[in-house]
Amino acid sequence: EKKPRSLLYLDGVSVSFDGFKALNSLSFVIEPGELRAIIGPNGAGKTTMMDIITGKTRPDEGEVFFKGDIDLTRKDEAEIAQLGIGRKFQKPTVFENHTVWDNLELALNRSRGVFATLFYRLTGEDRTRIEEILSTVRLAARLDDLAANLSHGQKQWLEIGMLLAQEPELLLVDEPVAGMTDAETVETAVLLKEIARTRSVVVVEHDMGFIRELGVKVTCLAEGSVLAEGSIEFVSSDPKVIENYLGR
Ligand code: ADP
Repeated sequence: EKKPRSLLYLDGVSVSFDGFKALNSLSFVIEPGELRAIIGPNGAGKTTMMDIITGKTRPDEGEVFFKGDIDLTRKDEAEIAQLGIGRKFQKPTVFENHTVWDNLELALNRSRGVFATLFYRLTGEDRTRIEEILSTVRLAARLDDLAANLSHGQKQWLEIGMLLAQEPELLLVDEPVAGMTDAETVETAVLLKEIARTRSVVVVEHDMGFIRELGVKVTCLAEGSVLAEGSIEFVSSDPKVIENYLGR
């Protein structure tokens, strides 16, 4: 059944690498304003699914739709990013030798096609936007600090902020809390929920404490398909999920 109003709709996506089916007729729907957690064992296809959504990998079968009827299936990565899908990889890639503010300014300029320059004059509106992002990602007090001097968790938040500068309608976040302190992990759950008030967020994570903290709908992948989907209580009590993932 097609859901034309969904923000993202993967319809029966399959992809193989050297005969190995990384995704096996995967169907997946995200609604506008939804925050969704993706879990599953290593090799389940979580990264491949993100690669399909962002156009890094093309499906062998199936289709991908964004905002109802925009067909992403044959679009390339740059086009898909431009349409409003942002992706944060696991390792933070902030500019260590620039301040927190300058990192956000660079990201804002980049979203306008002005690369790696701080000479593009910011408008008052731009400054307000950067200030809003700073407060969203808990870095308002660190704006003049070099990114290099932030904690690992704060660097992750800064990178999320840099993605927000591009105003994505869908933000994909890969293992944000890996290596974070417990306090940063809890704060990240709150922060992502705030971000999801104005856009959709898909977060891939292994940290079950964090997933419980999020308290949102969970999709568990295994062998390239959806094994179970629903509340964390529902998914984590599913015998198939225990056997394939949690009980390992
Ligand atoms: P997960 O992120 O859930 O750990 P992946 O999507 O990374 O799972 O991988 C799913 C399967 O596809 C794995 O067995 C992996 O080795 C394989 N795979 C993923 N990407 C490639 C690739 N580019 N080339 C070959 N095999 C790949």
